[in-house]
Amino acid sequence: MLEPNNEKADRTVNQNETGPLPFKKEPKYQDPFLEAIKKNPRPLSMVVIGMIGMPLILLLSGPDRAQTPEQTPVIENAIERVPPAPLELEVEATPASASEVGSAPEPQPGGAPTDAPGPLPFHEDAVVLIPSPALETAFVMPRRPSISLIIDDIGYSAALGEQAIALHGAVTFAVLPHTPHGKELAELAHKQGKEIMLHAPMSNLANMPLGPGALTPELSKEVFVATLNDDIDAVPHLQGVNNHMGSALTEMTMPMQWVMEVLKARELYFVDSYTTAKSVAGKMARDQQIPTMTRNVFLDNVQAHEDIDREFKKLLKMAREKGVAVGIGHPYKETLAYLEQALPLLEEQGIELITASQMIELQRSATAAW
Ligand SMILES: [Zn+2]
Repeated sequence: MLEPNNEKADRTVNQNETGPLPFKKEPKYQDPFLEAIKKNPRPLSMVVIGMIGMPLILLLSGPDRAQTPEQTPVIENAIERVPPAPLELEVEATPASASEVGSAPEPQPGGAPTDAPGPLPFHEDAVVLIPSPALETAFVMPRRPSISLIIDDIGYSAALGEQAIALHGAVTFAVLPHTPHGKELAELAHKQGKEIMLHAPMSNLANMPLGPGALTPELSKEVFVATLNDDIDAVPHLQGVNNHMGSALTEMTMPMQWVMEVLKARELYFVDSYTTAKSVAGKMARDQQIPTMTRNVFLDNVQAHEDIDREFKKLLKMAREKGVAVGIGHPYKETLAYLEQALPLLEEQGIELITASQMIELQRSATAAW
């Protein structure tokens, strides 16, 4: 009777335990990390709070919330930030998604600072984009890597304008309206077979001077539309428009709607210079079926050879990786000197320089193919 009882007792013990006795008798392994947590649970609770809190913070701080208007135009140092791609850019698979906004000085619009103070002492077009994740999968590269290069702010200096127009290859020139040399430079560029755009001045968050023909939210629709039409008429041979500055106006739906209505009527394309990550211009253009694309790289936020070189190489890298990339530069002496050397070498580097209109068509057909 004893033995069965003992067996029963052993069995009872075993049933109540999670494992066989020999295992149970082994010294229990003590994870030093867990022991430390037991003694001082604060780090663990911090980790838990972090794991719950970070996604919550990210969720609550989307691209719009993350960036206040005050932060957008003026960041003292050119800090690269990678906010999530604007939704419309992801959907449309344009090569732009995120931005870096700096406060680089405005190039004298085609003019040397000494001979022409000019109405545009600073430039807030200091945004550098990173290709969107959508583009990597959406874009089908149809041929060799291509870049477009737009030289903005043409019109104040005849000499620098002429030097820019003499650049090698299919550079596109964005001409400021009603400027001393805008019209003649547009004529000259056209004769040289270059593509012309209107560089439409649009209000910026830093309230920097815009020069003649400025589009601002204070204008009534009638005056706004008339101003833009006058700007278009002031630049001969233009095929499209991009924004000069515009960090304020391109965030505003109604004025952008008016811009696109005019461009539709005038059969012009639109390039979003993308001076604010909250620009709605590209989306408004697409909504109106206006041919459009978005700038990826500003070459000369800092007008020094090494900085221009770095940005130009970034442009080429993006073109190699994504198939296409759009750069904007300005008629600074440093930029022109750099491009005089760099552009003739593109061919042997396997990069094609195409006009803005060709780039828009290339992006459109590639997106359509996808
Ligand atoms: Zn400009």
